[in-house]
Amino acid sequence: MMTKEDLPVLVFATHNANKAAEVERMLEGRYRILTLNDIGCNEEIIEDATTLEGNAQIKARYVKTQYGLDCFADDTGLEVDALDGLPGVKTARYAGENADSSANMEKLIHALDGVSEDKRQARFRTCICLIQGEEEVVLKGVCEGRIALALEGTEGFGYDPIFHPNSESRTFAEMSPAEKNTVSHRGQAVRKMVNALLARFQ
Ligand code: IMP
Repeated sequence: MMTKEDLPVLVFATHNANKAAEVERMLEGRYRILTLNDIGCNEEIIEDATTLEGNAQIKARYVKTQYGLDCFADDTGLEVDALDGLPGVKTARYAGENADSSANMEKLIHALDGVSEDKRQARFRTCICLIQGEEEVVLKGVCEGRIALALEGTEGFGYDPIFHPNSESRTFAEMSPAEKNTVSHRGQAVRKMVNALLARFQ
């Protein structure tokens, strides 16, 4: 009988087991997803590229070369038009190296002080780099929206309380995880990757 150990392994270059379990469920039992913790990768991978795509590639290529395993890595950024695309690739550390989400959101709200609702357009972008054998592909997702005037909602993480997707009258933090996933940047990029992986079994 085929067990989970017989399935092809794909490493998700993250320490977040919940993220990995979610992708594994989407892959309908065709792959076994391992995290960085599962493969004993606890060293810091320096993400110093100037693009999201570049950072996703750095993480995925690191796992492939150091551990010899097929893998994928994601990187996400928030681009605000009124700030010429900032924080972009610096989204995680917008308010400083060890800044938490509250400090990042506070800085962003402050930077947009006095900017009217119709000029607060922004978008989240996610890039996923998938490496299988010799083949490397990048999958992308984007979610257009705007930055709210103040924090709204308590669900989710990161900038969710101040990001208002165009398709919705609520912020991400006012949506359930499943609702957010249907419209989010990461949801779109992950679905593209899942479809590409599952297509190989048809
Ligand atoms: P990462 O690439 O997933 O590590 O995300 C980079 C930064 O974007 C971190 O500050 C996250 O908190 C933020 N971020 C990523 N995805 C989302 C999201 O779906 N909602 C809100 N913030 C996010």
